[in-house]
Amino acid sequence: THSEDHIYVVGAGHAGGELAFALRQQGYAGPLTIIGEEGHLPYQRPPLSKAFLKGECETPSLYLRQQAAYDKANIGLLLSRRVERLDRAGKKLIFDDGREVTYSKLALATGGRARRMTINDAARAERTRNFHYLRNIDDVLAIRSRFEAGQRLVIVGGGYIGLEVAASAIARDLNVTVLEALPRVLARVTAPQMSAFYEQIHRNAGVDVRTNVEVIGLDFDAEGDAVTAVHCTGGVVIPADAVVVGIGLLPNTELAQAAGLDVDNGIVVNEHAATSDPDIVAAGDCTNHPSVFCGRRIRLESVPNAVEQARVAAAYLAGKPRTYDSVPWFWSDQYDLKLQMTGLSQGYDQFVLRGSMQNKSFAAFYLKEGRLIACDAVNRAQEFMIAKRMVAACKPFDPVALADETVPLKTLAPPLQAAAPPA
Ligand code: FAD
Repeated sequence: THSEDHIYVVGAGHAGGELAFALRQQGYAGPLTIIGEEGHLPYQRPPLSKAFLKGECETPSLYLRQQAAYDKANIGLLLSRRVERLDRAGKKLIFDDGREVTYSKLALATGGRARRMTINDAARAERTRNFHYLRNIDDVLAIRSRFEAGQRLVIVGGGYIGLEVAASAIARDLNVTVLEALPRVLARVTAPQMSAFYEQIHRNAGVDVRTNVEVIGLDFDAEGDAVTAVHCTGGVVIPADAVVVGIGLLPNTELAQAAGLDVDNGIVVNEHAATSDPDIVAAGDCTNHPSVFCGRRIRLESVPNAVEQARVAAAYLAGKPRTYDSVPWFWSDQYDLKLQMTGLSQGYDQFVLRGSMQNKSFAAFYLKEGRLIACDAVNRAQEFMIAKRMVAACKPFDPVALADETVPLKTLAPPLQAAAPPA
């Protein structure tokens, strides 16, 4: 397909899918194609470590939209196809099979990939049948096949994905160990009080949570087909029937970098989601973008960011630029806990608890120099909606009132229309 006017979206993930439909909503009626290396329609990843891992739903229910919606919107899909090279001078995309297409405008929504372990045995482990990373549907289908009661699962990494996998595995009656190299789980994203809360929840559920342990090696069976144990610092050896590694994400920036676009922990974009090439936008996990709220550049890994930034990128391509000014937010489901977070807590100097960790229903507020910068809410969906507005307001709040449950949060929050970002 060659055309004078053809917008291509590279990456058929949450951002790529949303971007294409947003382009149609913004009035772009020309040729439009999404390219994705996975053999799936754009899908949501959050269930991968939750319901889908537990076997409670199947692949089609993950799809953001079914094929008919793409047909109706006249959005082409080139799936199981990888873009190998971007030629900006010739405005061409070159595929893994050598074929090429010409674009008028381009969107990069390449997401990220699981960070690999760096120990010597890691490459060998990847060739076994029971050592897994977790980023896509195929990863989870493989992990699911190991989910039998009594199986010993070792999870490397006590971040959100590792902990969600632990909760899902407990639900399926596996024996679960979580290995975290830092002194506490969720260390990069939350306060010590929250980490202690989650560690206790997991221990109560039967998970063997170990912190301050680093994986230094693996044992294999005689054929080399399976990992049989995990070696840790301190001489600890943990037998394993399966290993899942969740130690973070690397943004897929190689395509952009090789094409000479600015890259710095993500594809560098401006407030309109445009890259250093005005004909190319980027959105989602792969971008390093200015955050109005944080007053600095950040890279986020969350669905709300992928969706909102994709809409901003589409508006720019449609010639109606607007500023990306969403406040970061995220969620995580483990056991009967629905955690929702807004803002970024890094750099806080005051932690205020509203409600009770004991009762598994609370909101934790983070203040910096008196200003509210973030909130983590557990099983408090209604208060979280209000907290989002309060965090977005970027202003000081009285910590005593925040902690006082007899003071309804909504009496503290700014009025609805003032700060709420567009849905
Ligand atoms: P992706 O979803 O990674 O999509 C990018 C796509 O581009 C991929 O399919 C990739 O294969 C493809 N691609 C890359 N390069 C090329 C190329 N050269 N050619 C062709 N195709 C290419 N977020 C939340 O907010 N809440 C949650 O509870 C939550 N849970 C999560 C649980 C798991 C297990 C995972 C993995 C993520 C979770 N996230 C969650 C994060 C969320 O899923 C991501 O932020 C979101 O998927 C980002 O969307 P994206 O489109 O930027 O990237």
